[in-house]
Amino acid sequence: MREAPASVGDRRWRAVAEDVRLLGVTTRGAAEGAARAHGAYAVAAAAMGRLLSAAALLASDAKEAGSGVQLTADGGGPLGRVRAEACADGLLRARVDHAQVELPPAPGGKLPVGAAVGRAGRLIVERVDGAGIGYTSASDLVSGELGEDVAQFLWASEQVPSAVALGVLVERDGSVAASGGLLVQALPGADPDRLEAMSARLESLRDLSWRLAEGQAIPDLLAWVVDKALPRLVEEPLHFGCRCSREHSRDLLRVVPGAERRQWAADEGAEVVCHYCQTHYRFASAEVAELASPGDPDP
Ligand SMILES: [Zn+2]
Repeated sequence: MREAPASVGDRRWRAVAEDVRLLGVTTRGAAEGAARAHGAYAVAAAAMGRLLSAAALLASDAKEAGSGVQLTADGGGPLGRVRAEACADGLLRARVDHAQVELPPAPGGKLPVGAAVGRAGRLIVERVDGAGIGYTSASDLVSGELGEDVAQFLWASEQVPSAVALGVLVERDGSVAASGGLLVQALPGADPDRLEAMSARLESLRDLSWRLAEGQAIPDLLAWVVDKALPRLVEEPLHFGCRCSREHSRDLLRVVPGAERRQWAADEGAEVVCHYCQTHYRFASAEVAELASPGDPDP
């Protein structure tokens, strides 16, 4: 087993083993960063962590600068919408409508992610290419637990037989001890029996978060799923962060209707809050007064 010191950051591994594609991620740093930014209680931290892993897995094809994947679970549960984004440069970020939600534990003492996300809705996946053009697709949520919802999406929307395991371990003090995910996909012509056996192994990894917390390494878990030594794995760094900026926030103020903006200029200025990292961008009255949107008849 590889030794992975706690300071090692988030990572994605990928490989092709004969007729299957294998992907694995660790996202503890990003899950912890998102949980802290939102002051998230355990179930919200777990939901964001699972969706962050899923986004990081699905973004493995995003290579061009500016491209990426955004996942939104909109299941009608008490958390509201949960959203996670993974960019080509490895940046990960997440948000949730209601981060301070408490629910009774699920059977086995597990965090009730499915009940918190809800399943009366859809998983929406938006892929953005390097030119900034978005392609959106969606599938109905199955359980709100997110792992099987992502697998269902990949089958229903992209016709790729896939098995997904996602796990997040949240400590009693609210910190994230482990977060990660595994994805196995059949390549065209894959042996259905072999895929079924690997799916069963992956599904048996319901304790994935515990295994990661114990220090088991993603490459070893992937080798266990395929039941053989793996070819060389490609390893890529991932990191928690945000794409917001003061300039982008100013652009948002520019498109506010002129009357409203003039009111803010006359009052105490304006504040733009990033829904991902919770950074507050303050704009003084004079700064707001200087902003005029194109086509504003009376700026
Ligand atoms: Zn931000």
